[in-house]
Amino acid sequence: MIRADKINRNYFYPDQFRESAADFLTAYKLEKEISCPDSKNKEGLKDKRSRVCRFCHRKYQHSIVTFSNDAHVFSELLGNRYLVSDFECDECNFIFSKYESDLANFLGIVRTVQSVKAKKIPKFKSADKKLEAESTQDDNEGNIIKIRRFDGLNTVFQFDEKKQETIITYEKNPFTPLNVYKSILKMALSIVDDRHLEDYKFAFEYLRTNNHDDKYSGFALINSYSMPLTFQYEQPAGMLFRKTNNNDNLFTHVFSFSALNQIFQIVLPFNRQDVPHYTVPGGVNVLWCPPLFDEDNEAAIRSIHCNLHNLNSTERLRHQKESFVLPGQATYGESFDGSKIIGIDLIREEDNECEE
Ligand SMILES: [Zn+2]
Repeated sequence: MIRADKINRNYFYPDQFRESAADFLTAYKLEKEISCPDSKNKEGLKDKRSRVCRFCHRKYQHSIVTFSNDAHVFSELLGNRYLVSDFECDECNFIFSKYESDLANFLGIVRTVQSVKAKKIPKFKSADKKLEAESTQDDNEGNIIKIRRFDGLNTVFQFDEKKQETIITYEKNPFTPLNVYKSILKMALSIVDDRHLEDYKFAFEYLRTNNHDDKYSGFALINSYSMPLTFQYEQPAGMLFRKTNNNDNLFTHVFSFSALNQIFQIVLPFNRQDVPHYTVPGGVNVLWCPPLFDEDNEAAIRSIHCNLHNLNSTERLRHQKESFVLPGQATYGESFDGSKIIGIDLIREEDNECEE
C-alpha cells in the first residue's frame, strides 16, 4: 500500500497502481470531498420557497416549480439515506429517478448481497427469473442473504472444487447504458462548486434532456474498481478532483464515487474551459484516480477488478450476464453434488461473509 500523500487525508492505494497514481496525483488535486452522514440533518437547507434548481435554473414558483421531494445528492439506492440538497426541483428529480432505475439494473445483484443501507434492502430477481436473492434478518444469525435458483438444469451455481470457489451467474435486468452514465454525471454535477456552475451550463442541459445524446457521443465512460464482496465502504462518498494546470490537455474535473464494494469514476464533460482541448488531434487525455482506501481496509482489497464501461449507447441492453465469485472457504465433501444445490445462504458478520 502506498500513502497518497498529495491528498489531504490518510488515503492509501495498492502498490499495483503506483505508476498511474503518480500521474494522476501530479495532474489533479482534490477539490471537494463529500461523505454521506449517517443520520438526518436538514440544517442549512434553504426554505422551499426560496430555492433555485441548479439543473434547470428555475426558481420556486407555486405549483409550477416545486421542491417538495427529498432530493438525494448521491443516489439513495447506493446507500445514501440522509444527504439531501436544496437545489433540485421535483421535475428534475423525476427525470433523474428514471436514470437511477437504469443504474439499479446495471448494478444487478450487488445491492442485495451487500445489504445496502437503503430504506428497504432490495430483493433481487434476475431478468430470466432463474435467480432470486433476498437479505433477511435473523435474531440468532444476524444478516442472512439467501440466494436461490429456479431453473431445472442448474445454470446459476458453479462449484470449482479445486479452487474451493463458488461462482454465481445470472442475467441482469435491462438497462439503457447512457442513462447509467447520466446517473453518475448527475451526482458529479451536484457537488461542483457554485463558482464553476457557469462553466458547466451545457452539461446541465445535456444531463436533463436527450436532445444532445446523438450529437455528442463517445465520452460516456465509467471507470470502475470492484472490490471483493466482503469489502464495503461505510458510507457513500464523492470526490471531485481538479487539474492543477489549466493548460494541461485534460478534462478539468474527474469525479470519483465510492459506495458498496465499488468505485465509479467519470470525467466531467462540456466544461467550457476544456473546449479548446477538444479539437487537439487525439482529443483530450483521460487520467483515472487510483482506488483509494483507509488504512484499515488493507486486508480486504487484495483483489481489485478494474473495468472501463462504455455507456455511450441509448439502445436498451438486454440479456447481459454477470458472474461473481463468492468469498469464503467452501469445503466440498467426497459425496458433494453441485447439481443438487438449489440455494446458498451467506451469513454476514462484521467484515466477513461465510458460505453455508
Ligand atoms: Zn429543475
